[in-house]
Amino acid sequence: MKTIYLDNNATTRVADEVFEAMRPYFTDLYANPSSMHVFGGQVGKPLKHAREQVAALLNCSPDEIVFTSCGTESDNTAIHGILEAYPEKRHIITTRVEHPAVRTTCRHLRDQHGYRLTELPVDAKGQLNLDELKAAITHETAIVSIMHANNETGVIFPLEKIAEIVAESNAFLHTDAVQSVGKIPIDLAKTPIDLLALSGHKLHAPKGVGVLYIRRGTRLTPYLTGGHQEHGKRAGTENVPYIIGLGAACELASKHMEEENTRVRALRDRLETGLLKSCRDAYLNGDPVNRLPNTSNISFEFVEGESILLHMDALGICASSGSACTSGSLEPSHVMRAMGVPFTRAHGSTRFSLSHYNTAEEVEFVIEHMPPIIDRLRAISPFGRCMKQ
Ligand code: PLP
Repeated sequence: MKTIYLDNNATTRVADEVFEAMRPYFTDLYANPSSMHVFGGQVGKPLKHAREQVAALLNCSPDEIVFTSCGTESDNTAIHGILEAYPEKRHIITTRVEHPAVRTTCRHLRDQHGYRLTELPVDAKGQLNLDELKAAITHETAIVSIMHANNETGVIFPLEKIAEIVAESNAFLHTDAVQSVGKIPIDLAKTPIDLLALSGHKLHAPKGVGVLYIRRGTRLTPYLTGGHQEHGKRAGTENVPYIIGLGAACELASKHMEEENTRVRALRDRLETGLLKSCRDAYLNGDPVNRLPNTSNISFEFVEGESILLHMDALGICASSGSACTSGSLEPSHVMRAMGVPFTRAHGSTRFSLSHYNTAEEVEFVIEHMPPIIDRLRAISPFGRCMKQ
């Protein structure tokens, strides 16, 4: 059975070009880039090049790029690092729809370390009210951590406007851009963001490598201490092959983003309109306009999301209910709850996330096979009785 992979917000396939770029660094070029010998230098140079490739995608300086082990580490380093550097400031602002990498971290700081935490609400489309952000910032606020694009709905927050607001205060702005980097443009020369997290495995590089962008001049206490790697900002021998892969993936994204967006958006739109038309009581979650081009989150009312996933899985279709991290729990996701999606809809929310590797045939297959799945599950659903006739 062929796999139809529509779960690219959970992780992506490593691109062939990325894999080929990485290969020599496992076998022939395995030196430690910090070593003084010529062999070390042969690895140090490509590492520098990878840093430049990442910086080019974000339009920042290579010395503002710090390689980490994943998006979660980047988020944690940003938040903990600022709080530790500014111990007198005890207030954190975030949103109700952050990924657990930020949400759990901020809640831990509130519950275990006594920080004051403001979690900004979102409206029915998953958008923020920027006046509420303005009103929440005080002289006590150390960090504002607001994601760029939501992993469940793809909703994009207006980062430029958020950055303008935060720049008027003494607080630092961190953005979890794990879902947006490589999918939509980000220009750090134009947008005054202080800290930005990204993760390799969301843009066709391997799992286990990430980046924290730290704007030059930002005071930040390192989260991992030890050696002097990464300009003294993140200790530990660099994961050279994966960093090389991430650099190659960033270069691919820089080159092809526009054409990829057009193609993937067309496939996503075909899938979305097809499903909304052919399945009864199906609703789109999130902002239909300000959204990643690859993501569609659809609720099939009165049907349970986990059952939909299992039935799709039997046909080789991979999607997700809530985020990969929250699926497994029967609670509706915190993102659906924050948007006020009714319980009977929130439970049936299913995320389809596409990539470069999806085809029109795959999309047609899903459009054809979803309606019978939904009808069958509705017939046995305890909520089915309440269904509109
Ligand atoms: N932030 C967002 C928005 C994500 O979607 C994810 C992964 O799903 C992460 C952070 C965590 O990234 P990583 O898996 O690299 O730790």
